[in-house]
Amino acid sequence: MAVSEFDIIERYFRQHVTQRNDVVLGIGDDAALLQVPADRQLAVAMDTLVGGRHFPLQTAAFDVGWKALAVNLSDLAAMGARPVWATLSLTTPAVDEDWLTGFCNGFFQVAERYRVELVGGDTTRGPLSITVQVHGLLESGKALRRAAARAGQQLFVTGTLGDAACALQAFEAGDTVPAEVLQRLNRPDPRVDFGQALAGTGAAAIDISDGLLADLGHILEASQCGATLWIDRLPHAPALESVPGERMLACQLYGGDDYELCFSVDAEQVEALTRYARQQQLPMTGIGIIESQAGIRCMHDDGSFYTPQGGGFDHFRDTEDG
Ligand code: ADP
Ligand code: MG
Repeated sequence: MAVSEFDIIERYFRQHVTQRNDVVLGIGDDAALLQVPADRQLAVAMDTLVGGRHFPLQTAAFDVGWKALAVNLSDLAAMGARPVWATLSLTTPAVDEDWLTGFCNGFFQVAERYRVELVGGDTTRGPLSITVQVHGLLESGKALRRAAARAGQQLFVTGTLGDAACALQAFEAGDTVPAEVLQRLNRPDPRVDFGQALAGTGAAAIDISDGLLADLGHILEASQCGATLWIDRLPHAPALESVPGERMLACQLYGGDDYELCFSVDAEQVEALTRYARQQQLPMTGIGIIESQAGIRCMHDDGSFYTPQGGGFDHFRDTEDG
């Protein structure tokens, strides 16, 4: 029996709704109507996941749904915005009801956790691809901009680095991956609450989707400054203790998909943020210092320098191995 686009929307997307009273009109009309508070700015971000490129095609549908929303919320976190609404454009080769059910379960689990309401979207046939747009609210002047880094600020990351890249490498090599590490690849936790705690502190922030060096590079470029990075202090998951040091470092510096926040703040902010992180049971690790001299200097604890071998992941530069 043929299932129409209308049926899919009704059955899968219109069912689970996080009812928000700022949604005047949600799914079902030609456009959604959303009430933005007069004293807030609207932060808007969009990310696409292409099957076989951003995730292996055999990835569980639940994880694809989870990740599609989570990576978008990570962008709002990196701006310090509070997520409120999302739209979803889903392109799938066929109507596979089991897949759709799994996808929606993952997507709406994240949506409910952050009180995000799906307010519209589009559904089409074609190679598997998921585009999500998220909307967040911010007080004017409090956004965490990439251009806000200043020499003398301390540099931090939340959580641990390189877990997702280690998981992907092991997965591709057919090795077993500890469940909590695989989880880091397939079900990233966007640092939404921490981003909001950072908002208004004057921090520069970015979420690490393409690897620490690449993403820190974006902050430094936008802020026209440089940094010394203490590479022996980069945090990694306890479950990855046995990964050889070289390989771990490569995953931490170049690996993507961690969705942790990298941020720089003035010294006065550090104590309160550290306290907040501890309360949230989220590691927050000092990994370096912002300097006026351009470039990233990767320094060992003994004072010697390490020369980075490559860049972060760039979809257009590195077209062979997406
Ligand atoms: P139109 O032809 O006017 O663009 P559609 O038939 O594409 O309308 O969509 C009908 C309604 O369903 C709209 O409100 C749209 O936002 C919503 N919608 C379509 N696809 C999705 C989806 N994948 N997720 C959420 N809402 C969707
Ligand atoms: Mg449409």
